[in-house]
Amino acid sequence: MVWVIVLDALTLALNAVLLPTETVWSMLLPASILPPAAFVATVVFSRPRQLWVQGTVVLICVFLILLSVALVGVNTGGEFYERHLTIMLFVAVTAIVIFPVPLGWSMTIAAYALGLYLSFQLRNTDIGAGSALAGTLFFACGVAATLVARRTATILSQKTFLLELRDRSRLADLAEANARLELLARTDPLTGVANRRSMTEAIERCWNAATETKLGAAMLMCDIDDFKKLNDNLGHAEGDRCLVKVAGIIQSSMRNEQDQVARYGGEEFLVLLPGTSEADAKIIAETIRNRVEAASLPNPTSRVASHVTVSIGIAVYGPGRDRGSPDQLQRWADAALYAAKASGRNQVASFIPKDGKT
Ligand code: GH3
Ligand code: MG
Ligand code: MG
Repeated sequence: MVWVIVLDALTLALNAVLLPTETVWSMLLPASILPPAAFVATVVFSRPRQLWVQGTVVLICVFLILLSVALVGVNTGGEFYERHLTIMLFVAVTAIVIFPVPLGWSMTIAAYALGLYLSFQLRNTDIGAGSALAGTLFFACGVAATLVARRTATILSQKTFLLELRDRSRLADLAEANARLELLARTDPLTGVANRRSMTEAIERCWNAATETKLGAAMLMCDIDDFKKLNDNLGHAEGDRCLVKVAGIIQSSMRNEQDQVARYGGEEFLVLLPGTSEADAKIIAETIRNRVEAASLPNPTSRVASHVTVSIGIAVYGPGRDRGSPDQLQRWADAALYAAKASGRNQVASFIPKDGKT
């Protein structure tokens, strides 16, 4: 709409320079209708409003703009009469092409333009009624073609919009499916805790972070005692239920998001405790061991007790200790677990290096 105001002002200024003053004055009054009409339409469309408000305003304003352009010619007369009616049709066609408004609005604008053209041409003393009708019919064909083009463009843009929406929704579905797959790939399906692969990555991350922060980490290797006997006595299904419960107990013994539990093998669970001293690791290990005992899950033929027990091996690395490697830390935790088993099971044991340095 702004360009309509600018064009109107420019045309008037040009006419003021080129045409006699009398002619310019006769153009001035009808031309002054256009700027306020275009301004009101701009203001109404500057922010979202109800459709009927926009429709009413735009149709009134466009009518006033077309009337203004037509009246400039009609008022001035002579060669300007027909020229401005043609300009008025051009303005209407441009509006139909540019503005993506509902088809009904575009048709109304087309009807205004052709109606104004016909009524003013019928009053044109230079041409007869037949010529006025023929001219209107000729321009009506062009306007109708413009309406069809506008409609096709609208349908195409709506289709493009719908296709984009479909693509976006497919992408979102794909991302969600990927996230689910990623989670499945990291989770042990029976117990719901992380699996070995996920733990290996967590250990790597922890190792790298520890290199920067100079903080150590502790690792607990937890193993259910005489689990094979539980399976043999109570069945594999009861064994599975026991695994789920023990996993839950270990998970609930973690202090925060950084502490991580993974099912390492059949009835073995690995716990990673970043930035944890050996003393704190022992407290957590004892908590797990006590809670498993307190749960009183049956294991009637166990050599340790009539209920399920766990043995836990602890390995720690940190300031002042041999840092080793992630694999070595796991081997140390395994060795400590072996020691706990050898000392009668249902025990917590720490790894003691051969040189005795802890
Ligand atoms: P220890 O005290 O020395 O650890 O003896 P254990 O019987 O616990 O150890 P062993 O390695 O001899 O037996 C582990 C058993 O765990 C053997 C295997 O059948 C069982 N097991 C492994 N994975 C699963 C599982 O997913 N579900 C069930 N129910 N049992 C499993
Ligand atoms: Mg085992
Ligand atoms: Mg075992």
